[in-house]
Amino acid sequence: MAGMNENDAQHCEMVQQQLEERVGLGQSLTPELRAHLAGCPGCHAHLTLLRELEAALLEDVPPMQPPAHLKTQVLSAARQTRIQTQTVAPAAQARPHAARRWWPLMLGAAAVSGLLAFGALLTPSRGTAAALPDPAVVVAAAGGLLVASNDGGGTLNLLRGDQVTASLRSGGAQPAWFTQGVRLGDRVYLADAANDRVLEVGTGPLRVVRSYPVPDGVAGLTASSDADGGRVYFKTVRGSVGRLGDPQHQITVAREDGMPLADVMDGVLLSGGRLFVTHHLTGEICLLDPETLNVVGRVVVGGAPVDLAPEAGGTVLALDAAGRLLRLNAGGEVIRSWPLPGHPDKLGVNGSVALVTDRAGQLTRIDLVSGEIQPMPLTHPMDVVALSDGTFAVAEGGGGGGVRVLDETLKTSWKRQGGKR
Ligand SMILES: [Zn+2]
Repeated sequence: MAGMNENDAQHCEMVQQQLEERVGLGQSLTPELRAHLAGCPGCHAHLTLLRELEAALLEDVPPMQPPAHLKTQVLSAARQTRIQTQTVAPAAQARPHAARRWWPLMLGAAAVSGLLAFGALLTPSRGTAAALPDPAVVVAAAGGLLVASNDGGGTLNLLRGDQVTASLRSGGAQPAWFTQGVRLGDRVYLADAANDRVLEVGTGPLRVVRSYPVPDGVAGLTASSDADGGRVYFKTVRGSVGRLGDPQHQITVAREDGMPLADVMDGVLLSGGRLFVTHHLTGEICLLDPETLNVVGRVVVGGAPVDLAPEAGGTVLALDAAGRLLRLNAGGEVIRSWPLPGHPDKLGVNGSVALVTDRAGQLTRIDLVSGEIQPMPLTHPMDVVALSDGTFAVAEGGGGGGVRVLDETLKTSWKRQGGKR
């Protein structure tokens, strides 16, 4: 019964693949996985090895490089494995599990003391071979841009200038739906609404450090760093606001039914000692005490406020997807309004220039002093971030997308074309 054995082997391979993804991202095991493990010593042993490796990798060891010859061996072995995978199994080719192929090699190498510190092996860089499939979120990271893609593998790319220097697949049970990212020190936090999680990503080297479960469509993130370290706050589209990794501190500002992923958009921003929170379904801005998360104010601004950005001087800009840019005072009240074309849902602000993106195909520049509005057609702009040198980075989704950096006059400084992987 060769056919039976093959099926069993295939099933175990699938199980072990899921175990690797879940252990790697710190997720709990599903009942199906547990059931299989109970009756399969092979997969159970695999899980034990994964956990031992994981524990070793999480130890606080100083970063070090593995010996050069070992790195070469591992790289060439992985390359061979990938080639075999592509020629033998079309199914595996459709969704190549880079991490899957690396784990066994890592386990072999784990015997070499010190190698465990080489966390980058867990999340191998693909260097120049990397593409930018369907970019959705762009974040200014330490020394470059981190780009998260809404592809099947949840691909993350690190760019230095217009060069992709590292790439990894964050995995996930569902194709990723990245909604926002923020930087806090040397970490970047990425909201993945499809997989109900926020990823904590390190960029030196590029790796997923931790995955926080955040149910109900996580849409907005904001970060603060103070004397007692940093905090990241999230807002879900169904109305929860909370601190990442702190389940005790969470409140619900509204209760809503589920909705399509494309509608998972809302903003949260720490400004002037208050958390500003949009709830686009009711047209409200809520103000919360960041310590207690108690609601201290609620302002109906109308429309569908979805994103927020701070301004010098303590005011806050709120983007209304119904077609307005709003300036709010410290109490959340509207003190100025600019009409905008289309249905923009992402906002970036540098000094007196704001850029907003509308997925339907437009970037709009707003001069916050003169009030001048300048549109620029772009195929599928998904996100915009203001960079510290006064320029802006825009993530353009879809097949012809990529990442574009523009100056404050909308002149393109450079563009890195995307593509399929
Ligand atoms: Zn098994």
